[in-house]
Amino acid sequence: MHIDIITVHPPLLESPFSHSILKRAAQKGLVTVNVVDLREYGIEPHRKVDDYAFGGGAGMVMMIEPIANCINDLKKQRTYDEVIYMTPDGETLKQNTCNHLSTLNNIMVLCGHYKGIDERIREHFITKEISIGDYVLSGGELPAAVLCDGIIRLIPGVLNDETSALSDSFQDNLLSPPVYTRPADYNGWKVPDILTSGNTKKVEEWRHEQSLERTKLRRPDLLL
Ligand code: SAH
Repeated sequence: MHIDIITVHPPLLESPFSHSILKRAAQKGLVTVNVVDLREYGIEPHRKVDDYAFGGGAGMVMMIEPIANCINDLKKQRTYDEVIYMTPDGETLKQNTCNHLSTLNNIMVLCGHYKGIDERIREHFITKEISIGDYVLSGGELPAAVLCDGIIRLIPGVLNDETSALSDSFQDNLLSPPVYTRPADYNGWKVPDILTSGNTKKVEEWRHEQSLERTKLRRPDLLL
């Protein structure tokens, strides 16, 4: 999979992709993440990427030209399955969207700033708009990193067996069961006996029950 992320603040996206699972995914050649600096498409002489809003009011708006030129440039190099804009008024990111996006070949992710982007970009270039929740952040970089992490970890070969994504929360609409590790007894706080019994069938049953219980209690909406 190839992901292009368009941003005016490339350094904000350096760290999330240079560590742990996302770094390994890139090293294994399973994903390439390319951060594109929108300033390079800014309008001279100062590489301007934003301007005042028509109609007045506080806050700058990201201009159409730099973004359009950037997107068109990228499109010369590959065909994109989705051109995604991170925005609080998009569809809220859910596991099934991550599942679907992880099966694609090429995606582009546009990070907004200030008051957002000129609406005409959304109308003419963007194929999908995604929010990471009902709150407003100052830029689309952290949301883009959240989205990419959610997608990349699902690409076959990225996670090894022990961390298999299939048993995580929201797959099958269930929350994950509680997990424990050594020591089995910490100052009298014991792990459930079943987990140390060695009976894998019983362990599986217990985990499933716990998942159901937890989901009923915390997220009954998932079971509807
Ligand atoms: N004026 C806009 C918010 C702009 S916030 C509004 O009220 O809807 C600036 C940028 O941060 C946005 O363009 C978007 O790219 C990003 N952003 C902020 N909150 C976000 C969220 N919850 N999900 C995804 N992107 C978000």
